[in-house]
Amino acid sequence: MSFTARVVTAAAWGARPPKPGTFPFQMTIPRYVIVHHTNNQNPPNDASRGTLEGAIKLARNIQNFHMDDNDWSDSGHNFLNTTGGLILEGRHGSLDAVKKGFCLQSAHAGQDPGKLANGNQSPGIENEGNFMTFQMSEKQWESLVELCVSLCDSCNITPLNIKGHRDFSNTDCPGDLLYSQLPSLRKQVADKLGMQFTPQQLENESPFVTLRLGSTGSAVIKLQQRLRDRRFNPGAVDGLFGENTEVAVKAFQRSVGLEDDGIFGINTRTKLGLS
Ligand SMILES: [Zn+2]
Repeated sequence: MSFTARVVTAAAWGARPPKPGTFPFQMTIPRYVIVHHTNNQNPPNDASRGTLEGAIKLARNIQNFHMDDNDWSDSGHNFLNTTGGLILEGRHGSLDAVKKGFCLQSAHAGQDPGKLANGNQSPGIENEGNFMTFQMSEKQWESLVELCVSLCDSCNITPLNIKGHRDFSNTDCPGDLLYSQLPSLRKQVADKLGMQFTPQQLENESPFVTLRLGSTGSAVIKLQQRLRDRRFNPGAVDGLFGENTEVAVKAFQRSVGLEDDGIFGINTRTKLGLS
Protein backbone atom coordinates (compact mmCIF):
# COMPACT_ATOMS: atom_id res chain seq x y z
CA MET A 1 0.00 0.00 0.00
CA SER A 2 1.50 3.27 -1.00
CA PHE A 3 0.20 6.72 -1.75
CA THR A 4 2.66 8.96 -3.55
CA ALA A 5 0.47 11.61 -5.23
CA ARG A 6 0.96 15.10 -3.79
CA VAL A 7 -2.22 16.44 -2.25
CA VAL A 8 -2.80 19.81 -0.56
CA THR A 9 -4.88 18.98 2.51
CA ALA A 10 -8.07 20.84 3.38
CA ALA A 11 -6.30 22.28 6.43
CA ALA A 12 -3.37 23.45 4.32
CA TRP A 13 -5.54 25.33 1.82
CA GLY A 14 -7.69 26.79 4.58
CA ALA A 15 -10.99 25.03 3.93
CA ARG A 16 -14.00 25.86 6.11
CA PRO A 17 -14.56 23.34 8.87
CA PRO A 18 -17.34 20.80 8.24
CA LYS A 19 -20.77 21.56 9.72
CA PRO A 20 -20.93 20.96 13.47
CA GLY A 21 -21.73 17.41 14.45
CA THR A 22 -20.82 15.91 11.09
CA PHE A 23 -17.10 15.37 11.65
CA PRO A 24 -15.34 12.96 11.59
CA PHE A 25 -17.08 11.39 8.62
CA GLN A 26 -17.90 7.72 8.57
CA MET A 27 -15.11 5.50 7.24
CA THR A 28 -16.06 3.41 4.24
CA ILE A 29 -14.50 0.59 2.24
CA PRO A 30 -13.94 1.95 -1.26
CA ARG A 31 -14.58 -0.15 -4.31
CA TYR A 32 -14.29 2.40 -7.14
CA VAL A 33 -12.46 5.55 -8.13
CA ILE A 34 -15.04 7.95 -9.54
CA VAL A 35 -14.14 10.60 -12.10
CA HIS A 36 -16.08 13.88 -12.38
CA HIS A 37 -15.77 17.22 -14.09
CA THR A 38 -16.55 20.48 -12.31
CA ASN A 39 -18.34 21.86 -15.40
CA ASN A 40 -16.25 25.03 -15.12
CA GLN A 41 -14.66 26.78 -18.06
CA ASN A 42 -11.63 25.32 -19.79
CA PRO A 43 -8.29 27.06 -20.39
CA PRO A 44 -7.56 29.82 -21.16
CA ASN A 45 -10.63 30.89 -19.13
CA ASP A 46 -10.22 28.26 -16.42
CA ALA A 47 -11.20 29.29 -12.90
CA SER A 48 -7.87 28.37 -11.32
CA ARG A 49 -5.71 29.80 -14.11
CA GLY A 50 -3.36 26.91 -13.38
CA THR A 51 -2.05 28.50 -10.18
CA LEU A 52 -2.15 27.39 -6.55
CA GLU A 53 -3.89 30.61 -5.57
CA GLY A 54 -6.51 30.01 -8.25
CA ALA A 55 -6.87 26.38 -7.26
CA ILE A 56 -7.61 27.38 -3.66
CA LYS A 57 -10.15 29.93 -4.82
CA LEU A 58 -11.89 27.29 -6.92
CA ALA A 59 -11.86 24.75 -4.07
CA ARG A 60 -13.36 27.38 -1.75
CA ASN A 61 -16.11 28.26 -4.24
CA ILE A 62 -17.04 24.61 -4.71
CA GLN A 63 -17.03 24.01 -0.95
CA ASN A 64 -19.26 27.05 -0.36
CA PHE A 65 -21.65 25.85 -3.04
CA HIS A 66 -21.81 22.35 -1.57
CA MET A 67 -22.30 23.56 2.01
CA ASP A 68 -24.50 26.62 1.45
CA ASP A 69 -26.55 25.76 -1.65
CA ASN A 70 -26.68 21.97 -1.38
CA ASP A 71 -26.68 22.05 2.43
CA TRP A 72 -24.02 19.35 2.62
CA SER A 73 -21.73 18.82 5.60
CA ASP A 74 -18.54 19.67 3.70
CA SER A 75 -17.20 19.48 0.14
CA GLY A 76 -19.02 16.60 -1.55
CA HIS A 77 -15.97 15.26 -3.39
CA ASN A 78 -12.78 13.83 -1.91
CA PHE A 79 -10.23 15.36 -4.31
CA LEU A 80 -10.03 18.23 -6.78
CA ASN A 81 -7.62 18.02 -9.71
CA THR A 82 -7.08 21.45 -11.24
CA THR A 83 -5.90 22.53 -14.68
CA GLY A 84 -2.43 23.18 -13.28
CA GLY A 85 -2.14 19.56 -12.14
CA LEU A 86 -2.55 20.56 -8.48
CA ILE A 87 -4.56 18.20 -6.31
CA LEU A 88 -6.52 19.60 -3.36
CA GLU A 89 -8.30 17.58 -0.73
CA GLY A 90 -12.08 18.06 -0.67
CA ARG A 91 -13.89 16.50 2.26
CA HIS A 92 -11.82 16.82 5.45
CA GLY A 93 -9.97 13.63 6.34
CA SER A 94 -10.10 12.13 2.84
CA LEU A 95 -6.34 11.98 2.42
CA ASP A 96 -5.71 10.35 5.80
CA ALA A 97 -8.46 7.82 5.09
CA VAL A 98 -7.22 6.73 1.67
CA LYS A 99 -3.65 6.48 2.94
CA LYS A 100 -4.99 3.86 5.34
CA GLY A 101 -6.94 2.07 2.60
CA PHE A 102 -10.34 3.53 3.45
CA CYS A 103 -12.53 6.35 2.16
CA LEU A 104 -15.08 8.66 3.79
CA GLN A 105 -18.81 8.77 3.31
CA SER A 106 -19.16 11.68 0.88
CA ALA A 107 -21.68 13.19 -1.51
CA HIS A 108 -20.51 13.16 -5.11
CA ALA A 109 -22.21 10.21 -6.81
CA GLY A 110 -25.77 9.51 -5.75
CA GLN A 111 -27.35 6.37 -7.11
CA ASP A 112 -30.07 6.48 -9.78
CA PRO A 113 -32.15 3.45 -10.82
CA GLY A 114 -30.29 0.96 -13.00
CA LYS A 115 -26.91 2.37 -12.06
CA LEU A 116 -24.08 1.27 -9.82
CA ALA A 117 -24.57 1.61 -6.05
CA ASN A 118 -22.56 3.07 -3.18
CA GLY A 119 -20.61 5.64 -5.19
CA ASN A 120 -20.44 7.88 -2.14
CA GLN A 121 -18.40 5.27 -0.30
CA SER A 122 -15.60 5.54 -2.86
CA PRO A 123 -13.21 8.41 -3.63
CA GLY A 124 -14.59 10.99 -6.04
CA ILE A 125 -12.23 13.16 -8.09
CA GLU A 126 -13.49 16.48 -9.42
CA ASN A 127 -11.52 17.55 -12.48
CA GLU A 128 -11.63 21.25 -13.20
CA GLY A 129 -13.24 21.95 -16.57
CA ASN A 130 -15.90 20.63 -18.90
CA PHE A 131 -14.88 17.60 -20.91
CA MET A 132 -17.88 17.08 -23.19
CA THR A 133 -15.71 17.87 -26.21
CA PHE A 134 -12.62 19.49 -24.67
CA GLN A 135 -9.55 17.36 -24.17
CA MET A 136 -7.84 17.66 -20.80
CA SER A 137 -4.31 19.08 -20.92
CA GLU A 138 -1.42 16.69 -20.50
CA LYS A 139 -0.50 18.24 -17.17
CA GLN A 140 -3.96 17.73 -15.69
CA TRP A 141 -4.17 14.22 -17.17
CA GLU A 142 -0.84 13.28 -15.60
CA SER A 143 -1.95 14.36 -12.15
CA LEU A 144 -5.21 12.45 -12.64
CA VAL A 145 -3.23 9.32 -13.54
CA GLU A 146 -0.95 9.80 -10.52
CA LEU A 147 -3.89 10.25 -8.16
CA CYS A 148 -5.66 7.18 -9.56
CA VAL A 149 -2.48 5.09 -9.23
CA SER A 150 -2.14 6.12 -5.59
CA LEU A 151 -5.81 5.49 -4.83
CA CYS A 152 -5.87 2.08 -6.53
CA ASP A 153 -2.64 1.07 -4.84
CA SER A 154 -3.35 2.25 -1.33
CA CYS A 155 -7.03 1.22 -1.31
CA ASN A 156 -6.54 -2.01 -3.26
CA ILE A 157 -8.98 -0.99 -6.01
CA THR A 158 -8.62 -2.60 -9.42
CA PRO A 159 -7.99 -0.05 -12.22
CA LEU A 160 -10.96 -1.65 -13.99
CA ASN A 161 -13.09 0.01 -11.30
CA ILE A 162 -12.11 3.53 -12.34
CA LYS A 163 -15.56 4.77 -13.27
CA GLY A 164 -17.34 7.91 -14.40
CA HIS A 165 -20.05 9.72 -12.43
CA ARG A 166 -22.55 8.69 -15.15
CA ASP A 167 -22.07 5.04 -14.15
CA PHE A 168 -23.86 5.93 -10.88
CA SER A 169 -26.20 8.81 -11.68
CA ASN A 170 -28.23 10.20 -14.58
CA THR A 171 -25.73 12.87 -15.58
CA ASP A 172 -23.38 13.81 -18.43
CA CYS A 173 -20.50 14.04 -15.93
CA PRO A 174 -17.52 13.67 -16.48
CA GLY A 175 -18.23 14.72 -20.08
CA ASP A 176 -18.40 12.58 -23.21
CA LEU A 177 -14.78 12.97 -24.14
CA LEU A 178 -13.28 12.29 -20.71
CA TYR A 179 -15.67 9.37 -20.22
CA SER A 180 -14.52 7.90 -23.53
CA GLN A 181 -10.93 8.19 -22.28
CA LEU A 182 -11.55 6.08 -19.16
CA PRO A 183 -10.31 2.89 -20.89
CA SER A 184 -6.97 4.59 -21.55
CA LEU A 185 -6.91 5.98 -18.00
CA ARG A 186 -7.44 2.43 -16.68
CA LYS A 187 -4.68 1.18 -18.94
CA GLN A 188 -2.16 3.81 -17.90
CA VAL A 189 -2.92 3.23 -14.22
CA ALA A 190 -2.69 -0.54 -14.70
CA ASP A 191 0.65 -0.17 -16.51
CA LYS A 192 2.08 1.84 -13.62
CA LEU A 193 0.87 -0.79 -11.16
CA GLY A 194 2.33 -3.59 -13.29
CA MET A 195 -1.10 -5.05 -14.09
CA GLN A 196 -2.35 -6.20 -17.47
CA PHE A 197 -5.83 -6.29 -18.94
CA THR A 198 -7.19 -6.93 -22.42
CA PRO A 199 -8.53 -3.97 -24.44
CA GLN A 200 -11.97 -5.52 -24.10
CA GLN A 201 -11.73 -5.67 -20.31
CA LEU A 202 -10.64 -2.04 -20.24
CA GLU A 203 -13.49 -0.96 -22.51
CA ASN A 204 -16.27 -3.05 -21.02
CA GLU A 205 -16.12 -1.05 -17.84
CA SER A 206 -17.49 2.05 -19.64
CA PRO A 207 -21.07 1.11 -20.57
CA PHE A 208 -22.40 4.66 -20.84
CA VAL A 209 -20.33 6.04 -23.69
CA THR A 210 -22.08 8.59 -25.89
CA LEU A 211 -21.97 7.39 -29.49
CA ARG A 212 -22.26 9.55 -32.58
CA LEU A 213 -21.28 9.64 -36.24
CA GLY A 214 -17.69 8.37 -36.43
CA SER A 215 -17.78 6.33 -33.19
CA THR A 216 -16.39 2.79 -33.38
CA GLY A 217 -16.07 -0.31 -31.24
CA SER A 218 -18.02 -2.94 -29.38
CA ALA A 219 -20.46 -0.39 -27.92
CA VAL A 220 -21.48 0.53 -31.50
CA ILE A 221 -22.03 -3.17 -32.28
CA LYS A 222 -24.36 -3.45 -29.28
CA LEU A 223 -26.27 -0.37 -30.42
CA GLN A 224 -26.59 -1.65 -34.00
CA GLN A 225 -27.82 -5.03 -32.80
CA ARG A 226 -30.40 -3.43 -30.56
CA LEU A 227 -31.59 -1.12 -33.35
CA ARG A 228 -32.05 -4.16 -35.58
CA ASP A 229 -33.94 -5.98 -32.85
CA ARG A 230 -36.27 -2.97 -32.68
CA ARG A 231 -36.63 -2.99 -36.51
CA PHE A 232 -34.63 0.14 -37.21
CA ASN A 233 -32.07 -0.58 -39.92
CA PRO A 234 -28.56 0.62 -39.04
CA GLY A 235 -26.97 -1.14 -42.05
CA ALA A 236 -24.27 -3.70 -41.33
CA VAL A 237 -23.57 -4.60 -37.70
CA ASP A 238 -19.92 -3.69 -38.09
CA GLY A 239 -19.06 -1.47 -35.13
CA LEU A 240 -18.80 1.63 -37.30
CA PHE A 241 -21.28 4.43 -36.54
CA GLY A 242 -21.82 5.58 -40.13
CA GLU A 243 -24.63 7.46 -41.85
CA ASN A 244 -26.96 4.44 -41.90
CA THR A 245 -26.63 4.03 -38.15
CA GLU A 246 -27.23 7.74 -37.67
CA VAL A 247 -30.40 7.56 -39.79
CA ALA A 248 -31.59 4.59 -37.71
CA VAL A 249 -30.87 6.39 -34.41
CA LYS A 250 -32.77 9.46 -35.64
CA ALA A 251 -35.74 7.34 -36.69
CA PHE A 252 -35.74 5.64 -33.29
CA GLN A 253 -35.54 8.99 -31.51
CA ARG A 254 -38.55 10.34 -33.43
CA SER A 255 -40.50 7.15 -32.67
CA VAL A 256 -40.15 7.75 -28.91
CA GLY A 257 -40.61 11.53 -28.98
CA LEU A 258 -36.97 12.52 -28.48
CA GLU A 259 -35.18 15.22 -30.39
CA ASP A 260 -33.71 13.49 -33.46
CA ASP A 261 -30.11 14.68 -33.16
CA GLY A 262 -28.69 11.28 -34.11
CA ILE A 263 -26.53 11.22 -30.98
CA PHE A 264 -26.78 8.14 -28.81
CA GLY A 265 -26.58 9.68 -25.35
CA ILE A 266 -28.19 8.95 -22.03
CA ASN A 267 -31.84 9.64 -22.98
CA THR A 268 -31.76 7.63 -26.19
CA ARG A 269 -29.88 4.84 -24.41
CA THR A 270 -32.52 4.65 -21.69
CA LYS A 271 -35.41 4.61 -24.21
CA LEU A 272 -33.69 1.88 -26.18
CA GLY A 273 -33.27 -0.14 -23.00
CA LEU A 274 -29.50 -0.32 -23.19
CA SER A 275 -28.65 1.10 -19.77
ZN1 LIG B 1 -19.94 14.41 -11.36
